[in-house]
Amino acid sequence: MYMYIGIDDTDSKDGMCTTYICSVIIDELKHFGFNTTGYPRLIRLNPFAMFKTRGNGALSFKLNVKSDEDVKKVKEIVLKKVEELSELEDERTNPGVIFYRGEINYELQSYSLKTIRNIISIEEAEKFANKIGAEFFKFKNGRGIIGALAAIGCPNTDKTYELLAYRLPQNYGKKRQIDYESVFQMDKSTYPETFDNVDNDNSYIAIEPHTPCPILYGIRGESPDTVLNAGKIVKSYEPIEKITVFETNQHTDMHLLKIDKISDMEKFKCYIVEGKVKEFPYTREGGHVIFVLEDEFGEIPCAAYEPTKEFRDIVRKLAPGDKVRVYGGIGEKGTLNIEKFELLELAKIYETKNPLCECGKRMKSAGSGKGYKCKCGIKLRDGTNDILEVKRDIEKGFYEVPPSARRHLSKPLVRMR
Ligand SMILES: [Zn+2]
Repeated sequence: MYMYIGIDDTDSKDGMCTTYICSVIIDELKHFGFNTTGYPRLIRLNPFAMFKTRGNGALSFKLNVKSDEDVKKVKEIVLKKVEELSELEDERTNPGVIFYRGEINYELQSYSLKTIRNIISIEEAEKFANKIGAEFFKFKNGRGIIGALAAIGCPNTDKTYELLAYRLPQNYGKKRQIDYESVFQMDKSTYPETFDNVDNDNSYIAIEPHTPCPILYGIRGESPDTVLNAGKIVKSYEPIEKITVFETNQHTDMHLLKIDKISDMEKFKCYIVEGKVKEFPYTREGGHVIFVLEDEFGEIPCAAYEPTKEFRDIVRKLAPGDKVRVYGGIGEKGTLNIEKFELLELAKIYETKNPLCECGKRMKSAGSGKGYKCKCGIKLRDGTNDILEVKRDIEKGFYEVPPSARRHLSKPLVRMR
């Protein structure tokens, strides 16, 4: 029989990460003769949840057990390791563990989607766990049970894989010794089966975390074989403790909800929404580019923040009346953070110019109410301005933020086939 185990909220600011704890537990279980079935799952939850771990990822895996004795032993091993490895003194670390032996039914899948698209409280998670007969264990406030249960129930209609390579504990916090050249080479020979691992436009390596966590690097791709092969191309100058391949909901757009009216959108949720650009985009202090999206029911400011780099230059090319479909989430201040957009229709935009002179040059104003004059000497008392269509510098189609600014859950265009 099967047993599902979910773990979440064991990350700490000093670097401990739930994927690592999960990986250690799987090894420990194997040592005692309990083998996992399939790949462990790394499920990313609502990126706008107020209380969350760093990447807001929860973990789960499936185990083969033969008896109640087995179940008891598994629980012991898991809970002991979570307690041992979690940095419980960190106030943000509130681990939760779920043991579940039932079916992954529609109800459980719906709960999972809710944690990915909504905000769920610890009480709600507890109540739901009781309802479906899932056993939960809380450390401190036990917030982790929310995600732990979600990681078990998440539907895998679309999925990707991530290979995580872990460092030796004595190297935690030290500069990572990765051969960047080999990372670009890996990307070149495996893209688009692997993706988002480098940012060629910014010569940026996206596989390397910027926290003191146990992860040396993570490689994202379409299949376990692809990421394993890609991992063989990447060279590092420090020992790797171990590698684990996770099945994930990363890069699937699972967090996005299609919505018809801008007025129905809420803070802390992520959407796909259509509308028209209200005015020309403008650049705010800090280099953030903003435009207002409107439909007949309401409007919302949309932002391409500074870290989205060259993506902002594309957003700046939008014009009033352009019809766009925007993908992104709403933060605390009510601004929609653009992850990508599709330009559906280009508006015609015009500029007015002084009339053309007989000699072929543009005339100048001769002063208020005095008509126009030209360098050649010709004067025009009552000419009218020309209205000219401006050639647009952008085409219909999809545009996205660079990999360095991509959210875990956001589907890159290369996957939108
Ligand atoms: Zn002239």
